[in-house]
Amino acid sequence: MTTINFEQIEAKKTLKFVCSDCGKKKQRIIKESQTMNPYNKNEKGIIKTKEDVTKSVEDELFERCMKFEKEPFCSSCKLYIEY
Ligand SMILES: [Zn+2]
Repeated sequence: MTTINFEQIEAKKTLKFVCSDCGKKKQRIIKESQTMNPYNKNEKGIIKTKEDVTKSVEDELFERCMKFEKEPFCSSCKLYIEY
């Protein structure tokens, strides 16, 4: 059996906010990660390079942070982020 380990590209950002539920000042780390693999392709069907994956991880992270900041919640109010 062969195990193939795809390289994982990860990015994270620490956000400070006032929880929209309990009103407490909190901070939370938003993470985004993607693996480089043969199925991770761009719109043209070409396998993404490390630079491409890094770029999309950063874009996704930015999107998630934007969504989070619209209605931030701490981990005691809401443990999981659905996006
Ligand atoms: Zn809270």
